[in-house]
Amino acid sequence: MSEATKSRNFIEQIIDKDLAEGAYDSVCTRFPPEPNGYLHIGHAKSILLNYGLAKEYGGKFNLRFDDTNPTKEKNEFVESIKEDVAWLGADFEGRLFFASDYFDKMYEAALRLIDKGKAYVSSLNADEIREYRGTLTEPGKNDPDRDRPIEENRRLFTEMKEGKYPDGAYTLRAKIDMASPNINMRDPILYRIAHMTHHNTGDKWCIYPMYDFAHPLEDAFEGVTHSICTLEFEDHRPLYNWVVQEVDLFEHPPKQIEFAKLYLTNVVTGKRYIKKLVEENIVDGWDDPRLVSIAALRRRGFTPESIRMFVELAGISKANSSADYAMLEYCLREDLKPKAKRLMAVLDPIRLVIDNYPEDQIEELDAPNNMENPELGSRKLTFSKELYIEREDFMEEPPKKYYRLFPGNEVRLMNAYFVKCTGFEKDENGKITTVHATYDPETRSGSGFEGRKVKGTIHWVNAKDCVRAEVCLYNNLTDEEKGVYNEEDGSLNLNPNSLEILKNCALEKALGEAKTGESFQFVRQGFFAVDSKAEKEGRLVFNRIVSLKSSFKLPVS
Ligand code: ATP
Ligand code: MG
Repeated sequence: MSEATKSRNFIEQIIDKDLAEGAYDSVCTRFPPEPNGYLHIGHAKSILLNYGLAKEYGGKFNLRFDDTNPTKEKNEFVESIKEDVAWLGADFEGRLFFASDYFDKMYEAALRLIDKGKAYVSSLNADEIREYRGTLTEPGKNDPDRDRPIEENRRLFTEMKEGKYPDGAYTLRAKIDMASPNINMRDPILYRIAHMTHHNTGDKWCIYPMYDFAHPLEDAFEGVTHSICTLEFEDHRPLYNWVVQEVDLFEHPPKQIEFAKLYLTNVVTGKRYIKKLVEENIVDGWDDPRLVSIAALRRRGFTPESIRMFVELAGISKANSSADYAMLEYCLREDLKPKAKRLMAVLDPIRLVIDNYPEDQIEELDAPNNMENPELGSRKLTFSKELYIEREDFMEEPPKKYYRLFPGNEVRLMNAYFVKCTGFEKDENGKITTVHATYDPETRSGSGFEGRKVKGTIHWVNAKDCVRAEVCLYNNLTDEEKGVYNEEDGSLNLNPNSLEILKNCALEKALGEAKTGESFQFVRQGFFAVDSKAEKEGRLVFNRIVSLKSSFKLPVS
């Protein structure tokens, strides 16, 4: 579809109109995370939306840390967020900002409001302010300090900044309307006293601006034109507009636009829950591959392209909705199908001995890396008398329609020969240890052999040169039947089988060289990626990103 025929989402329509009417002559968007945790798939939507719009309109995209609340913020989160945003492909080169760098300018803006008679210093404590605020059905009451003279407000506010007063002694409030039907407009607090060390400004400040005052100013200082946020801020929009207008420093003040958050069905996204899972060691850190933080998705092997496709399919809307995890898996498969090499890995190996194959012979076979994409070239496989095959590819007494190996049956070994099962061995517990077969030298793959057909093709590796590795299979962290949350106490319904570790997998030699960031299709199994954390510990572990099977169907739009 060309850009022109594609239907415009409601945000694009607003921007188109603003540009046509000359409200702005270019576009600037931003992603404004608070550095108080790791980003998740929902944030990816916001990042890609904002970045995508900036690119579409030839405008600018800012990454701005909304670090005005020193209580919860940490540098560790600043670093992880930068990494995640860059990994998603949202380029913020030269446009990285910190809200805390504007503290001086915000303070000046507050003084302007005081001088205009639009802000005053209040001596009410938190409880009293709540009491005076009124309710949804009753108007609030005026603060006894509402008419404090401008000069006195100025003096008190300056003294608040200088550290003369303890936490909670005073606040600075906007003078708007205590009877407004919108509670956010009932003289909201603009500044509070907090004697705290800030991760960026240290002990320079002991007063900090409130979100509703700081955020519009941050946008305006940066020349942001369209400040895109999620729906819960809709009721804050009048205050956003009030701040940028009353401070009266901006020729083209930014405009707030709200859209619906992205939720995933049956998936834990709440920061609070994830934090608990991490702290109780139920998961292996914030990047545990079962989580949907960006770091976790990356570690599991999801690609930025798959996340971009997912976010686009989920669409932009004003109504809250929930997308299926299966859709994310679909996107990954679509992305990797043509891109990933398709190699052979035996997850639960048993020995296959080719009795009529010469004892010490090792043969090289040519195998395409991806049948659907010749650009990925081919590789050499080695073949010998002793191989490994998947335990489930052999059955002593097969059911109907089982076309794999069983006594007397012939199958194709992928990229190699036809082999016919001649027998098997068991250990003292009755477990199959070895399968015996004979091969037909005429049937070598690529030789043009047309003598007969077989119904089953199975994968294998050469016992002589395969590499051993661990493979992790992931399932939903929470119980699909019971739902994510326990209705009685709000706790999580955990799935005890969310992680399955296969310790002794046998992989074809080429996989021994695999590095973090590489993903593969293991034929007949799924898509897998190297686990970065294990790699750092010197171990080779593959994460299953998704299996090959899916019942997912693209929603028709
Ligand atoms: P907090 O509860 O700490 O505020 P948060 O998830 O809102 O958590 P922020 O750092 O404030 O974290 O979010 C940064 C940006 O990401 C905001 O603009 C927010 O609206 C957006 N965002 C957060 N969650 C989602 C989501 N699920 N879908 C889309 N955008 C989101
Ligand atoms: Mg938030």
